Amino acid sequence: MTTSDTTASPIQTQVLDGLALANEVRGHLAESVAKITQAGHRPPCLAVVLVGDDPASRSYIKGKQRACSRVGMESVEHMLPEATSQDEVLALIDRLNADDGIDGILVQLPLPKQISPAVVAEAVDPAKDADALHPTTSGRLMAGTAELVSCTPLGIMAVLDHYEVPLEGAHAVVIGRSNIVGKPISLLLQQRNATVTMCHSRTRDLAAVCREADILVAAVGQPRMVQADWIKPGAAVMDVGVSEVDGKLVGDVDFDAAMGRAGIITPSRRGIGPMTITMLLRNTLLAYRNRKNV
Ligand code: NDP
Repeated sequence: MTTSDTTASPIQTQVLDGLALANEVRGHLAESVAKITQAGHRPPCLAVVLVGDDPASRSYIKGKQRACSRVGMESVEHMLPEATSQDEVLALIDRLNADDGIDGILVQLPLPKQISPAVVAEAVDPAKDADALHPTTSGRLMAGTAELVSCTPLGIMAVLDHYEVPLEGAHAVVIGRSNIVGKPISLLLQQRNATVTMCHSRTRDLAAVCREADILVAAVGQPRMVQADWIKPGAAVMDVGVSEVDGKLVGDVDFDAAMGRAGIITPSRRGIGPMTITMLLRNTLLAYRNRKNV
């Protein structure tokens, strides 16, 4: 290098192909399921419960069932009408808890207003808690002893590991503090020795906090909220948010503007979504193995 060569080289942002990575992980899961069935055991089975007819939820459930069948797992669906009472949902969950042929239970969110998501989460047997929302499951995550972990955070960790992003000592900033994404991903990052800052709607000067992040996780649901100048050059940007704008899926990060600024970025399509479904399969398989000792 000559002394006149002082310009920083432009950043070539790597864009995750979440579907390709998901297919790679699902290939390993399929091999595990094949070994189980070849040994004469039944395949793992996931029960999905949908209350109401939200089209997005229906489509998510279809994707989850397709993914199950592609790795050789079974799934059963329970589609309940919008007016279903909380007691009826709890009675169904009781039956699924008691059914030895069911290994994982997922109740699709959002639920109609007469049903409390917290009550439903507590009703699921922690041994079958594929979505990892039971307080026992999240308590174990806090204690560092969890096996079943929320699917989206597990998917994010798999992406970071895929790119060999250094976590130890890194500053991770998580925007969003939901039970399903923000809190568990913060704990997982902290367990891997990152220094984690959790942000939310009352955080002061969010842009300045984000600018300090080696790893930036955006789980908000505000389209294109994170601007290019919020991103530290070269940062790993995990965009979890999914919003629909003019019929197009948009993330929490201004994706186009982040190109050339982020080191790694996940797109809103074929990004974290396929990895989330993959981790649901992983949790179902793990729940099966733990219950059946297989
Ligand atoms: P929630 O609505 O439960 O949580 C959103 C969080 O964002 C809250 O903690 C809220 O703060 C925070 N927030 C809202 N507005 C701002 C703001 N202006 N500045 C800073 N923080 C803000 O959402 P989820 O965690 O369930 O989901 C987040 C997004 O991720 C959604 O778009 C969802 O669709 C998507 N998602 C995608 C998945 C995937 O597989 N790709 C899976 C799960 C979710 P406060 O607590 O103060 O209200």
